[in-house]
Amino acid sequence: MNVVITGATKGIGKSIALRFASEGFNIAACARNKGDLDHLSDELKEINPAVEVYTARTDVSKKEDVYKFINGTVQKMGSIDILINNAGVYLPGKITEEAEGTLEKLIDTNVYSAYHATRAALPFMEGGKKPHIFNICSIASIIAYPGGGSYTISKFAMLGFSKVLREELKPQGIRVTAVMPGATWTDSWAGVDLPHERIMEARDIADSIYSIYSLGPTAVVEEIIIRPQLGDL
Ligand code: NAP
Repeated sequence: MNVVITGATKGIGKSIALRFASEGFNIAACARNKGDLDHLSDELKEINPAVEVYTARTDVSKKEDVYKFINGTVQKMGSIDILINNAGVYLPGKITEEAEGTLEKLIDTNVYSAYHATRAALPFMEGGKKPHIFNICSIASIIAYPGGGSYTISKFAMLGFSKVLREELKPQGIRVTAVMPGATWTDSWAGVDLPHERIMEARDIADSIYSIYSLGPTAVVEEIIIRPQLGDL
């Protein structure tokens, strides 16, 4: 079984890759930094030498890069069972004050990336044993964070994308899940001075995704909200 994960070298994406590899799934991973991809590849082979790993340097904000990554995956692995649209960036700011071009950058990276990856991957998912698409949204997909600016717009769009996809893909038996995590320890929080227990571990998001995938084929978790036990920051 083959899992494709965008933005898999750090944070939530990396935890997902490690979790699925430890369960015996082959992993296709992309990110922009080649050294990080090589490191991920070594780690995946270390935790499970039996899995096949394909990595490709990719900027998901560029449509042609996304298609190249998906086509490369199919050439190497033949088909795609699970697509995890995870890559995303967080740029804090206010809509009224943020730098010119912020919305464009966030929509390119956080939304168009998933749209193109999904359209590129779908022909190779149809007819699979248990095809599933996970879209990593955010609590910012359902509430407006003060200071969340265009990031919030991009994550509302990502949830809209996921809802439409869920409706469209029902007849093909392709399951679609929107994952909405709250604050999760990753590089996005680097340098922030907060008590450790106020923020979730990326491993918990990966475990949730694996358990949702593990449900029987007649059930789908359409949306999941995961918050720090003490609530949002
Ligand atoms: P992260 O630790 O910053 O990791 C982001 C990953 O995506 C890295 O592997 C990064 O590698 C890759 N990436 C970023 N821009 C890319 C691009 N243009 N092309 C290809 N790869 C790219 O992020 P994270 O916090 O785990 O976030 C992952 C997802 O969860 C995002 O969609 C984020 O919005 C969402 N999320 C995060 C939190 C949180 O609190 N952490 C909460 C809710 C939702 P390179 O830099 O090498 O490209």
